[in-house]
Amino acid sequence: MKRNDYSIFANEPRMRREARTIDAMIRIYCQKNHGQAQGLCEGCTELRDYAFLRLRKCPFGEEKSTCANCRVHCYRPDMRERVRDVMRFSGPHMVYRHPILAFMHLAVDDRRPAPELPKRVASQSGGVSE
Ligand code: SF4
Ligand SMILES: [Zn+2]
Repeated sequence: MKRNDYSIFANEPRMRREARTIDAMIRIYCQKNHGQAQGLCEGCTELRDYAFLRLRKCPFGEEKSTCANCRVHCYRPDMRERVRDVMRFSGPHMVYRHPILAFMHLAVDDRRPAPELPKRVASQSGGVSE
């Protein structure tokens, strides 16, 4: 996936914002922990691509809450741990680096109740981890 390629979410403003937020957080993390002045290191590229893939497959689509509030938790355990580290580290930086994204994440998306898994998907998956 190309750098900053949010075009896959062109008609999904909520998903696009989520992709921009996770991308910004991984960039801050990479810059400060892996010394990347531009772009992402290999490991962080893998994490960002994985997060975008999960978003693309998210059964809640535009209704999704934040992943932290999700009842499904579709991330693989190792990736979930990595993304948690990123969020813990980059969260405080987001307030001044990306104030609008930070505001929307905390004041809007994080307060949205986690929806129930659509019945069709629940019967197929029972919780997904790829
Ligand atoms: S953790 Fe939940 S909200 Fe996040 S992408 Fe996976 S299914 Fe969607
Ligand atoms: Zn990195």
